[in-house]
Parts: sequence; C-alpha cells; structure tokens
Amino acid sequence: MEITILGFWGGYPYNNEGTTSFLIQSEGYSLLLDAGSSTLIQLEKVIDPLELDAVILTHYHHDHIADLGALQYMRQLKPIEKIEELSIFGHQEDENAFKRLTLEGVTKGYSYNPEKELEIGPFQITFLKTVHPVICYAMRIVEKRTGKVFVFTGDTGYFDELIPFSKEADVLITDTYFLEGHENHHAHLTSKETGNIAREANVKRLILSHLKQDIDLELLLSQTKKYLNKDIPVELAKTQLKIII
Ligand SMILES: [Zn+2]
Repeated sequence: MEITILGFWGGYPYNNEGTTSFLIQSEGYSLLLDAGSSTLIQLEKVIDPLELDAVILTHYHHDHIADLGALQYMRQLKPIEKIEELSIFGHQEDENAFKRLTLEGVTKGYSYNPEKELEIGPFQITFLKTVHPVICYAMRIVEKRTGKVFVFTGDTGYFDELIPFSKEADVLITDTYFLEGHENHHAHLTSKETGNIAREANVKRLILSHLKQDIDLELLLSQTKKYLNKDIPVELAKTQLKIII
C-alpha cells in the first residue's frame, strides 16, 4: 500500500501546510483517512478528488474534518454527470457530527462498529478507542493481499494498549504533539511516550505527526530517537511524503 501525507499539523494549518489527512492507496483503490485543512489542495496533486473511493474519520475535531464539507460541495458542484455517492465512515457516538457525513445524493455516512473489523475495499481495519477529550479511534489498517500493516494512533494521550495495537506495524504514524516532560497528557503523546511505544511494539518505521507549530521539531525528533534504542527509522511528517510498504 502507498500512504501519502496530505497534512500533519496539530490544531490549525501553518506555513501553507495543513492538518491531519492521509491518502491510502492499494490496487487502484483510494481511501482518505481524516480530512483536515488543505486536504483538497494536496489531494488534487495526487488524484482527482472525485475519484476517491471512501473516507474514514478518527474523530470529529475540526483539524481532522475541516475540508470534509468542501469535499462534499466539490462532489456536488463539479461533476458534469452525476457520480456515485461517496461513502464516509465515522463513529456514531457523536450523533450530530455523524449526521453531517451524509449529504443526500452526494455523500453517505456509515457508522463503524469499533468492536468489529471493518472491510473497506482492499483494506481490513480494526479500532482502538484512544485517550482524548472527544471520542476518537486509533486504526490498524491491513492490506488484505499482502498483510502489510499501517497503524495510525489518531489523537491520543498515552495508554498501554497502544503497544499491542501497534505491534510489528510496517509503519506507525503517531500524534506526537509534545516534547518530553508533558507525559500522561489527556489528549496527545510526547516524544518520550512515542519512542517507548514504537520500541515496545517493534514497529518497522515511525513517523511523527500532529506536530506543534511553536516547538523545536528537531528536538522532538532527537528526543524520540533516544527512547527508540534501536534501528527504527523515524522522521517528521511532511506534506506529500509518500510511504510505500
Ligand atoms: Zn483531536
């Protein structure tokens, strides 16, 4: 599978780059994971947004869904001929937010059951509820044909279950918002916690995302490396970074 980072900042866009959004592609199928600000502008550089096959959302904070309404309008206004409704998968534990996933004739909201595996196109997805002020799910996305694994923590503070959930992932993308010293935060991980999770889970590659605009990101990276303790490649998320696993 191929993952393209479309946005990675936490909270708000910065320096012409957007907030959380990843395009995941396999066998001609294109799944959008979260739709933060700048999603459409960056997505257009990879595929025609009208060719998206499905969208899945970790939670309904603005920085993860900022471009969702604009995506609905684009699919409503741009096609010359009517196109198929786009499936948008989200949890149903915030009813008002879930209702907005459906725009009749344009997009249709489907609730995922976090207790069960979900199949979307070539992917099999399992969920883990995270530590966050609103209900949010981490996702373990397996490419069915190859067994390759992409784990995204969603937005989360530290909890032990993140380790087995990330076990042996081919790539782990984390919400690493804080420098060391802010451990056990109610919403986000620190560099130290991220390093510990990736080391214990023995992931093959680590990418730090949901980055904070006003901290030293090179320090965030070096602090994380300190806790990795072995040869796990780690880097900061970048717009249009392609990860092939
Ligand atoms: Zn959030």
